[in-house]
Amino acid sequence: MLKRFPPKYAYPEELEPFQLKGLQWTVSHAWRNSPFYRKRLDVAGVAPGDIRTLADLSRLPFTAAEDLRDNYPLPLLSVEPKEIVRIHPSSGTTGKRKILCDTQKDIGDWLCMFARCYEMAGLSREDRVQICVGYGLWTAGAGFQWGAERFGAMTIPAGPGNLDLQCTFLQDLRTTVLCCTASMGLLMAEEVHTRGIRDRIHLRKVILGAERTSDAMIATIKELLGVEEVYDIPGLTELYGPGTGLSCRYETGIHYWADYYILEILDPESLSPVAPGEIGEMVYTTLGKEAVPLIRYRSRDLTRLVEGSCPCGCILPRHDKILGRSDDMVVFRGVNIYPGQADEVLSKMEGVGSEYQILIEHGEDGKDYMTVKVERANQLNEGYDAVLARTIAGGMKRNLMVSCAVEIVPYGSLPRSERKTKRIFDNRRY
Ligand code: ZN
Repeated sequence: MLKRFPPKYAYPEELEPFQLKGLQWTVSHAWRNSPFYRKRLDVAGVAPGDIRTLADLSRLPFTAAEDLRDNYPLPLLSVEPKEIVRIHPSSGTTGKRKILCDTQKDIGDWLCMFARCYEMAGLSREDRVQICVGYGLWTAGAGFQWGAERFGAMTIPAGPGNLDLQCTFLQDLRTTVLCCTASMGLLMAEEVHTRGIRDRIHLRKVILGAERTSDAMIATIKELLGVEEVYDIPGLTELYGPGTGLSCRYETGIHYWADYYILEILDPESLSPVAPGEIGEMVYTTLGKEAVPLIRYRSRDLTRLVEGSCPCGCILPRHDKILGRSDDMVVFRGVNIYPGQADEVLSKMEGVGSEYQILIEHGEDGKDYMTVKVERANQLNEGYDAVLARTIAGGMKRNLMVSCAVEIVPYGSLPRSERKTKRIFDNRRY
């Protein structure tokens, strides 16, 4: 149970009244202090006094990445500029960056959220946390670092890359917790394995953030680093940064900090709520963010809510892991496909390595064709390739309702990166 950074409500039925208060504050704050939000809300015909129940959330207009880009450099600002103590751009790759900013209180809230992640992962102040994510402008380094300091563990701000230095620190400083992206975690695991130093390191836990993970990657990381617990931290720069939830140790989904924000799961096309347990887009509304409050911010990330209470006893609600982005979703012969679905299929199969690629091409006959390239598991004989390929094709057909060719490639032959690994390649020309 969370003692140092507990939820701000004691019983599940207290969450809705708590969120309503935060929602009312957010709408009123944004309406009074941000010309952007005032205009948006006026156009939608909603005034702060109209928010009487949580259901009134559906009357509020959406915000999206374009709103942040269009109002560059300090979009959706709802405080005096002198109240800002920090800015963080998002790591977007095209066009103008989105720049988000924080007040002193926003930073304090974020660090409490992040410290809660470390507490929920079962860390103590005896732990030594090696942080191998990007520092500088990005939220990842700042969040993992100051969150761990706020929690009170020893931090090792190693940054990404430099596997030689990482391995030295793991041994000499007796690191117990590794924080990194899933791709970096995989690289580290393979490096530790290659160097044969597994018995000389003291890692107990790995906390992964800033990238979607697959079950196969987590299994490889656990095996090669000899750790029992691997946690997943979700987060996006627009919503403070990473640290807005943590995967449960019972592997029942991700507990998210519903006392800091409201999460809606909406159909990306119709923008109405999906049925319970169905996949939809994550839409965020903050409850106490001052500098840049979010009102129904469309994240493009896809997941589903997990119903019911959790065996761990935590009352904070859960969502599933991120199953892809509505932007990454490709339409293949009329079927929506996203990377998370392929992960789900492949992770349940024996004999499959941790990496795969999906290639979609336009054939000369005018039809679209899909090829799935999958690494065979380490040390598996290639004599099983034909059986493996048939099993994978069958699994894809059953779960995604698409027919595909399957190519089995040697273990370690697909690219790995320290940052985000691209897995769907849509090579069709439009
Ligand atoms: Zn739980």
